[in-house]
Amino acid sequence: MGKSKQTGNHKSDAKKHIAKTWKTKRRTKDMDEIHSDMKTEAAAKLLNQEVDVDVTGCAQHYCLHCARYFVDMRSMKEHFKTKVHKRRLKKLREEPYTQAEAERAAGMGSYIPAKTVEVKTQTVEEDMD
Ligand SMILES: [Zn+2]
Repeated sequence: MGKSKQTGNHKSDAKKHIAKTWKTKRRTKDMDEIHSDMKTEAAAKLLNQEVDVDVTGCAQHYCLHCARYFVDMRSMKEHFKTKVHKRRLKKLREEPYTQAEAERAAGMGSYIPAKTVEVKTQTVEEDMD
């Protein structure tokens, strides 16, 4: 006789996953900022920060070019070998002079030909066992 009627149809839960994808993007420094961080004085400050327990590795291991802190010397050195870091160096090298410098050059009316920016991985002291 009568067929059993279908019950318990599937509810679509497509909505569940949408919200998550938006929040994962981390904000890092702009290339401009990193270029100014690379100037000798700023760099020296960033690479010799005071111990700060709230920062990864107490702020003692900082990659200037990626604006990232590392827990220790070893993980920082590992980072130097990664694609992320190398790509970053390349990008910094190719990045033209900052807007500010371009404007200054224009204002002075004399064009200063762009030098190649030298970007190297910072030197680290080899003092681990
Ligand atoms: Zn790096």
